[in-house]
Amino acid sequence: MYVKGVGPARAAMLEAKGLSTVEDLLVYPPFRYEDRTNVKTIAQLAPGEMATVIAEVRTAKLSTFRRRDLGLFEATFTDASRAVLLVKWFHAAYLADVLQPGQRVALYGKVEYDSYAGQLSMVHPEYEILSEEDEADAALHVGRVVPIYEAAGKITTRVFRRLIHGVLERLTPPPDALPASIRRRLRLPDLWTALRSLHFPPEQEDLRLLNAFRTPAQIRLIFEEFFWLQYGLAVKRSSARRESGIAFELNDRVRERIKQMLPFKPTAAQKRVLAEIAADMARPHPMNRLLQGDVGSGKTLVAAEAAIIAIENGYQVAMLAPTEILAAQHYYYFRNLFQKLGYQVGLLTGSSTKREKTLMKKLLAEGLVHFAVGTHALLEEDVEFRRLGLAIIDEQHRFGVLQRLRFIRKGVRPDVLVMTATPIPRTLALTLYGDLDVSVIDELPPGRKPIITRHVTEDQIEWVWSFLRKQIEAGRQAYVVYPAIEESETQARKAAEKMYRHLSQVVFPDLRVGLLHGRMPAEEKEAVMESFKRGETQILVSTTVIEVGVDVPNATVMVIEQAERFGLAQLHQLRGRVGRGAEQSYCILVTGPLNDVSRERIRTLVESTDGFYIAEMDLKLRGPGEFFGTRQAGMPSLRVANIVRDAELLELARREASDFLASGPEEEQRRALEYVRTHWQRRFGLAQVG
Ligand code: ADP
Ligand code: MG
Repeated sequence: MYVKGVGPARAAMLEAKGLSTVEDLLVYPPFRYEDRTNVKTIAQLAPGEMATVIAEVRTAKLSTFRRRDLGLFEATFTDASRAVLLVKWFHAAYLADVLQPGQRVALYGKVEYDSYAGQLSMVHPEYEILSEEDEADAALHVGRVVPIYEAAGKITTRVFRRLIHGVLERLTPPPDALPASIRRRLRLPDLWTALRSLHFPPEQEDLRLLNAFRTPAQIRLIFEEFFWLQYGLAVKRSSARRESGIAFELNDRVRERIKQMLPFKPTAAQKRVLAEIAADMARPHPMNRLLQGDVGSGKTLVAAEAAIIAIENGYQVAMLAPTEILAAQHYYYFRNLFQKLGYQVGLLTGSSTKREKTLMKKLLAEGLVHFAVGTHALLEEDVEFRRLGLAIIDEQHRFGVLQRLRFIRKGVRPDVLVMTATPIPRTLALTLYGDLDVSVIDELPPGRKPIITRHVTEDQIEWVWSFLRKQIEAGRQAYVVYPAIEESETQARKAAEKMYRHLSQVVFPDLRVGLLHGRMPAEEKEAVMESFKRGETQILVSTTVIEVGVDVPNATVMVIEQAERFGLAQLHQLRGRVGRGAEQSYCILVTGPLNDVSRERIRTLVESTDGFYIAEMDLKLRGPGEFFGTRQAGMPSLRVANIVRDAELLELARREASDFLASGPEEEQRRALEYVRTHWQRRFGLAQVG
């Protein structure tokens, strides 16, 4: 459809925001609403009230003298009442290029009396410059509750208002896809009513509800978005359940072999989770299961048990890990566990030599390696298995959907077990992994003492070093870590190298200090890790390469430098490297000055060691987009809904979707299926529903 007011330039700006169709535009929600019903002339204004005026700029200037540093921008406005309003914006030097005498502007804010100037004023009002074009439909922008949109390029909130209003005026109401039976029962308004009130709320609508996104119209649109997402996922789950797969046999011999492997008595949670996995594996359909658990809860051991089931049934197992360090770590762990059982464990990574790769590929293809661990190298075209029965993906969120599919295709409908290194908040798990069944290990192995976490500032570092020395003298080991965000691994490496020199030469010349970072050749990394594991190295200075998987129970101190710069999940993960033995462990967070958000993060960590709680806080503090960092793969794009704000609507939609799939009216089901088939992929950017 042609939208009035959208030429090629605007179309490109809209496109860049992901708005390429009329439908996209219609569900582009305002991010807040303003009550501009109280429109007055300047002469009518009274101090203390919130009001809107439409007035002309008379003077506008960036304040000179000392206040220039504040970027104080002052303007006076006047209107037909001839009274004058003084308006101030601080830190707003940019306004010098925006506001010019003669312009007509809508101002919305709190009226004050400026006793210094002896005049009515507003400080930091919302403002909108009204063009002639706007004059025509001024009624859209003032005198009502007004939607405020995030700008897209040069498309301002006003332009959005006009475009969307135009579309709503001219469009024939689109059909409502949401099943009528659900709409009736939940008393949701129909689509067209909902869309209109989302953008131009009816007069009596409560502003607080609007800004909380809890009007019936908003609830309906949020619910609908979640509903289709969850329904699509439910359809996927149920069709996967009908696919035929491998039915692994779980007999006494397999149980005996598992017992033989186990280095300790599994916790009750590990037992329960294994039972869930084993039941899946025994079914003649492919397993699709997510294994969640806090750092150190013993997920790897459960994965090993599952692997034994597959291997004893004559199948191979492959495990995909996101980094070389982690792959190597898993390789040693499993080789060690499986030695007694006579299984062959293989490692394949990007830094394997050509000869090693060729050999490993041959062994895999001939079925001579039972358990293969690897990085992306495992996904290469020419890596073939003789009989892959179980595919394990560690840290799924680092892999995209396509990589997951490619991995799974190495076998014929193998069972799939996905593991996460850090707990994921339930809402996010439902959105991201909604097509998987979930098992949770909610208990740590016995004898673990909760880690004591302390926050210190950089000027207290000497205290940290003396504490560290005491621990080393008591026979323990320690990590000193420079966390790196993806782009700044080099910076972190430099900081770690510098600290390494400082600690090894100045602070602890008498102790054995080691250095580990991502750029080291794989062999050197391994040598450094081995030396730390054997207890020869007492202090390991490192970048975040040790973030996941490292397991040295004698290490009891984790010092994290520049802790304010990193996300909660990452800090929690790092902290999980200690507290793995019987001794009391400590985590020391060293920071510079903190802003509000980083203070909140640090406080959360000091107060809690519960990974699930921390993950929830992380999601709240950083928002869904940032939770896993910017490279999050496979996150569906939500438009109206927000998984932090709308968690309970997500739960509702999930229940409704699965009930509907199980027992919705037939005709409605047929239409719903048709709807997800045609809309799902575009809507959520996820793989197609079967
Ligand atoms: P995760 O992968 O969940 O972070 P790991 O599997 O690495 O945790 O286990 C953490 C540590 O706890 C390892 O040293 C592991 O050997 C040990 N462990 C696992 N299960 C048990 C258990 N049931 N009893 C005692 N120790 C255990
Ligand atoms: Mg692990």
